[in-house]
Amino acid sequence: MHFNGITLAHNKGTQDSATVKIPLPKTVRLPMSQHMGAPCEPCVQKGDRVLVGQKIGDSNAFMSTPLHSSVSGTVTDITDYLLANGRVCKAVTIETDGEQKISPEVYRPVVNSRESFVAAIKQSGCCGLGGAGFPTHIKLNVDTGKTPIDSLVINAAECEPYITSDYRELIERPEDVLDGINKVMKYIGIKKAYVCIENNKPKAIKDFTQRTATRSDISIVTLKASYPQGAEKVVAFSATGRVIGEGELPSAKGIIVMNVSTAGFISRYLKTGMPLVERRLTLDGDALRTPCNVFAPIGTPVSELISFADGSTEAIGKLLSGGPMMGMCLYDFDTPVCKTNNAILAFTEKAIKPKDEQTACIHCGRCLRACPMKLMPTEIERAYEAKDKERLKKLKVNLCMNCGSCSYVCPAKRNLAETNQLAKEFIR
Ligand code: SF4
Ligand code: SF4
Repeated sequence: MHFNGITLAHNKGTQDSATVKIPLPKTVRLPMSQHMGAPCEPCVQKGDRVLVGQKIGDSNAFMSTPLHSSVSGTVTDITDYLLANGRVCKAVTIETDGEQKISPEVYRPVVNSRESFVAAIKQSGCCGLGGAGFPTHIKLNVDTGKTPIDSLVINAAECEPYITSDYRELIERPEDVLDGINKVMKYIGIKKAYVCIENNKPKAIKDFTQRTATRSDISIVTLKASYPQGAEKVVAFSATGRVIGEGELPSAKGIIVMNVSTAGFISRYLKTGMPLVERRLTLDGDALRTPCNVFAPIGTPVSELISFADGSTEAIGKLLSGGPMMGMCLYDFDTPVCKTNNAILAFTEKAIKPKDEQTACIHCGRCLRACPMKLMPTEIERAYEAKDKERLKKLKVNLCMNCGSCSYVCPAKRNLAETNQLAKEFIR
């Protein structure tokens, strides 16, 4: 694997915006599917009174993690809900009572071993806060007998434009980040941690370098600010030089990759027992007059965030959950904040560049050079159009992480990344 990356405007206008709590919304809606893997089943009923931190959804499936109430109030509805990704799951709506009473289920977990640590993290409802949403307890509970885990890679690259929520975690809660790293290293038995930060965040690099000056077991890795530097396989390679192959998890190469905000959350959870019920998000885009970073209860309608950032829904031409490269378009202003949301970006029609018409490939090779996985998007496109499954497998389309770099650089404006996604679905 090689990594050239592409250069994007950073637009990190909210990097100095200290995170503030938004006012408590009147209602929250909590979809049962907020992480990679099986959705939860509601364990409350309409009319139930719930408290902050109370479990409201769980699953017996291996790949799942429980869901907790972010507010105190009354369950007013449990219905099917259409997620932004087109899937449908149950969602619990809770009318808040404004008291934010904490559930007796919230208590500091007793952790004194690897097993109790993993079990506690499972109960916390934690999943990767960088966007992918892989349940954290599964990531931590790897079979170390196969390939011993010797490296913890903390992903603080935050390479998508606009988003500064991980950066604010580094700046506002560095002790939590380091404590979370220490806890993972101690209980999982990992000898070395790498904190990977892009070089457009010099303040955080300087601070963490000073804080870890006496630690030979923690290295601060300065990454070139280049997209998609924060992709899991890329950051693992940048830190350790190890290549994670097709279909492999980082654990196959002795690595756990963890988002920096997840590390900070682990520390706070072990100190307080409060599960994942709120998160930090960046609110930005030209349709918002006051871009900022906020803490919002999970389940908060996006419309509340828009009005908090002095935006009006009428002015918005495009609404994104996540960054402009890998984020997802939202069709509904009342979409709830979920565990994996690190940003809401709202743009006016004026800011959206009209899509140029797709023209024939001119064989310039820019898409090949841009691809961090060394794929051949033009060949994949051809194989997909020919519906040639074997060729698509040979071209290793499953390695595509949908970073969008190929589409971004293509002068012919071909929908390469989109075609790759369709091709992956096709061979599946
Ligand atoms: S979207 Fe896929 S094919 Fe395109 S650059 Fe990214 S990884 Fe490569
Ligand atoms: S970047 Fe676009 S025009 Fe250039 S080779 Fe790739 S598909 Fe063709």
